[in-house]
Amino acid sequence: MPTPGTLAPDPDRPRTVRSLALASHTLALTATLDLAEITGQPFAGGVAVPVEYRKGRPCLLDLVSDTDAELEPGQPTLARAAPWPTDRVQVGLQAILLEEAGYTVPHAVLYYAQTRTRLTIPVDDALRADALAELDAAIRTAAGPRPLPLVDDPKCPRCSLQPICLPDEINHQRRAALTIEGRSADDTISPRRIWPPRDDGIHAAVQAEGVRIGVRGAALRLTDRDGAPVRDIPIASLESLAVVGSVQLSTQALHVLADHAVPVVFMTAAGRCVAWIDPPTPTSALTRAAQAVRCAHPPARLELARTIIAAKITNQRTLLMRNAPDTRPADLSELTRCVKAAEHAASIDELLGHEGQAAAVYFGSFHLMLRDEAARAAFSANGRKRRPPPDPVNAALSFAYALLTHECVSALRTASLEPTLGFLHATRPGKPALALDLMEPFRPLIADSVVLALFNRAEVGPGHFLHTAAGCALTDHGRRALFNAWGRRMATEITHPVFDYRLAYRRMLMLHARLIAAWCCGEAPTLAFLTTR
Ligand code: SF4
Repeated sequence: MPTPGTLAPDPDRPRTVRSLALASHTLALTATLDLAEITGQPFAGGVAVPVEYRKGRPCLLDLVSDTDAELEPGQPTLARAAPWPTDRVQVGLQAILLEEAGYTVPHAVLYYAQTRTRLTIPVDDALRADALAELDAAIRTAAGPRPLPLVDDPKCPRCSLQPICLPDEINHQRRAALTIEGRSADDTISPRRIWPPRDDGIHAAVQAEGVRIGVRGAALRLTDRDGAPVRDIPIASLESLAVVGSVQLSTQALHVLADHAVPVVFMTAAGRCVAWIDPPTPTSALTRAAQAVRCAHPPARLELARTIIAAKITNQRTLLMRNAPDTRPADLSELTRCVKAAEHAASIDELLGHEGQAAAVYFGSFHLMLRDEAARAAFSANGRKRRPPPDPVNAALSFAYALLTHECVSALRTASLEPTLGFLHATRPGKPALALDLMEPFRPLIADSVVLALFNRAEVGPGHFLHTAAGCALTDHGRRALFNAWGRRMATEITHPVFDYRLAYRRMLMLHARLIAAWCCGEAPTLAFLTTR
């Protein structure tokens, strides 16, 4: 009995069900409907109408003439509107699922928000047949190898998968082997820069001892050791978080960061990465399987390793030429020789020999790029030393390489690659070998450049370093200066020499990680790492 004073629900009036989940084992199909208007009960004469919402506009009948869509009365301005074929198939499959669930589905509805157009799609045998044919094709495609990206397709710039798919970049690499209908396979494809050149989010590093990170509303709240608020960071704008040293991170904050897919790295005050927390994004087992197969193939390992080391030595040489005019010509010639030798190395061991020779020349001249006399003298005397770093430049380099490792791990995980399975660097428990591979060409471009800028712009001085029996280390203020310089460098845009568009360094790392994934999967036949002139 209805409560006195209220109306009984009208069984003939459609009720609205949002986010309706349906599944069919027979069809191997699941769906979550935006909305369904349902009248009555299933298997008892119930009627259901699926309604899908789209942000954009419908297509036009003069572009797609074989549609069976009808405009609803009262919509005179878009008399030629029609559903996009993919939308029509989607509501067709939803109708089939609703019919399996016991409802009669006379029609489906598509609503295009941009033009406020509501289209009614009759559910008939033709729609069911088209929808099932597309489903069958999709299942066959999913069971086979990953399809190659479309060529110069206007859909790609709006596609959310573009940063994963890299259609223009992959096709650019494949152009020599492509057979494109109506065009020579040698036609040049100029990659469109579809990504925004940089992300405008916040990459935060929290390092002050005793600081606690909690959650306050939609922000991370940093409080000092006395509980006083220090700063709020909006979570929606946060791209990554580095937690350095004795900083407390609450469980609630960890949950929120994971929910927002923000990667977190935990580092010691000396810059050693001790743990990563990954966003819970789906990873592709297929990409990792392809990586493992490539990795087990010695010629493939050598191919990637050669490309990486040749690019690294090229960038070392460029950095010296730009910043140390006093470099001996013989050293520059030796680096040129090492590049060529690396490109033709017959084994990984031989390649490592060329890399070592180039490193000796490069770090033998590194002090010439430093304008700070004390730093220059100390590095000239010590050379590059890691464990422990004996002087400020070595300490800053070690910290910068640790940050670069973290950036590369994040980029590789985003590309569904396994960071511990390397091609040049040997795989050891806990060693991010592929991240160490990826970072090689970027060491001079990012880490070394940041350290040079710190000293040459006098952003750090003797007060930013501690000298102990365990070696030289950055103080809190020193790390803060390095983080600031790091942020500036990662947001700096640079032109890719092959694709000829500009991206920030952080995006460049992601681009190269994706290209390694495409190469592992056999989509990109060659690899080209960033070099500067
Ligand atoms: S970016 Fe890739 S997935 Fe998206 S439309 Fe283009 S080819 Fe297809």
